[in-house]
Amino acid sequence: MSQTIKTQVVVLGSGPAGYSAAFRAADLGLDTVIIERFSALGGVCLNVGCIPSKALLHVAKVMDEAKAVSAHGISFGEPTIDLDALRDHKNKVIGQLTGGLAGMAKQRKVQVVNGYGKFTGPNSIAVEGDSENTIVEFDNAIIAAGSRPIELPFIPHQDPRIWDSTDALELREVPERMLVMGGGIIGLEMGTVYHALGSQIDVVEMLDQVIPAADKDVVRGFTKRIKNKFNLMLSTKVTSVEAKDDGIYVTMEGKKAPTEPQRYDAVLVSIGRTPNGKNIDAEKAGVNIDERGFIGVDKQMRTNVSHIFAIGDIVGQPMLAHKGVHEGHVAAEVISGKKHFFDPKVIPSIAYTDPEVAWVGLTEKEAKEQGINYETAVFPWAASGRAIAQDASDGMTKLIFDKDSHRIIGGAVVGSNGGELLGEIGLAIEMGCDAEDLALTIHAHPTLHESVGLAAEVFEGSITDLP
Ligand code: FAD
Repeated sequence: MSQTIKTQVVVLGSGPAGYSAAFRAADLGLDTVIIERFSALGGVCLNVGCIPSKALLHVAKVMDEAKAVSAHGISFGEPTIDLDALRDHKNKVIGQLTGGLAGMAKQRKVQVVNGYGKFTGPNSIAVEGDSENTIVEFDNAIIAAGSRPIELPFIPHQDPRIWDSTDALELREVPERMLVMGGGIIGLEMGTVYHALGSQIDVVEMLDQVIPAADKDVVRGFTKRIKNKFNLMLSTKVTSVEAKDDGIYVTMEGKKAPTEPQRYDAVLVSIGRTPNGKNIDAEKAGVNIDERGFIGVDKQMRTNVSHIFAIGDIVGQPMLAHKGVHEGHVAAEVISGKKHFFDPKVIPSIAYTDPEVAWVGLTEKEAKEQGINYETAVFPWAASGRAIAQDASDGMTKLIFDKDSHRIIGGAVVGSNGGELLGEIGLAIEMGCDAEDLALTIHAHPTLHESVGLAAEVFEGSITDLP
């Protein structure tokens, strides 16, 4: 069976970028269709990314905290782990959110077409569904087809013991010995979960620091802390991976490489994600795609074809849900005739590890590269009453100020709930706040976000020429 649908706006992909664009377009009165290959809306983020990982990280955090209070005289004993129940919990969280999205689509009269969509021309997409095929004829299209994990040719990815993040989130088993390949956010988050569940974790990272996008001083304390959990092999790379009956054998070379191949029960390959740009026949619509699969856009999220837009992971870094959401809003508003464009000062990044590592605005590295006359101010949590009271005194809050204007241009927080504390710093940068604005704001005591005001006071104390 086949049908043809005509619409003002079609959105290819229902991840955070896609559903945000579709809902905004519908709210603006545009006739809107979403094409999604899976039956659940929400893309990577809701189904196999942000949300399930945070559901599991929450459990891991509670387990770690329960263990930590034994130092204060309270012991719970060893946890028993019911993997099926934990998986059910995670799936329930996902179901609640994806079900909510389906309801919101219905409420807005956004039509969802299930199946795999490919462009057939500048104004049409053919969707191959399980039971029927659909041709969607559109006035405007928004490509939000997202990304997938990078695979390497020398790794036998088809072996069930070689995981990507989606496999790791399935919680099929708790491997006794697990290698996390790549010390970025996703690898460290999943490593944190499996460590809490009882796996012995090795992390191998080619560069000389984990979370390479963050400043070195921000990552230093964090690295010290995670060494209690992980055997960390920095400046080391994997050179071969062999699947044998009794395990996955991994050979490494570099500073911390073991001399012999190591046997693992599972290997999580988390070395980054690649865009899906080459899989949608966008060239049939005249859309340019680069050699890696990214689609280039202008500030209005418009591709080289003026009625076709692209948003989210498929247009480039940072591959983060909140970036895609804002891009989606811009694309929908531009289509509706508004003169909106995407030009954020800040896109926050957070590793929801233990402790969390969070940063927003410029890093020190970027400020240096841009030739900005900057100064940093750090408030160590060892001086925070709240942090000491809750066993989090190894955290820190770091602010970066423009030394000439005293305006805040960046910030980072390492510590418990660091990601939540980032909100104030992001807003301060967007609003053009200076150090005095932050220092004079009365922060509640004792809170962790007090550290933001106190770091600003550190900067104020270090200068004598207040404007
Ligand atoms: P996606 O979410 O990838 O959605 C694309 C959608 O398009 C998918 O549903 C796909 O099925 C569909 N699709 C693709 N091609 C077609 C086609 N041809 N036809 C039909 N449908 C198609 N980001 C954060 O901001 N915070 C986090 O904490 C966070 N944690 C993460 C944890 C993990 C383990 C992973 C893997 C990612 C995480 N991310 C996080 C990243 C985040 O998930 C992505 O940045 C975000 O999902 C990108 O949104 P998107 O809409 O661009 O694409």
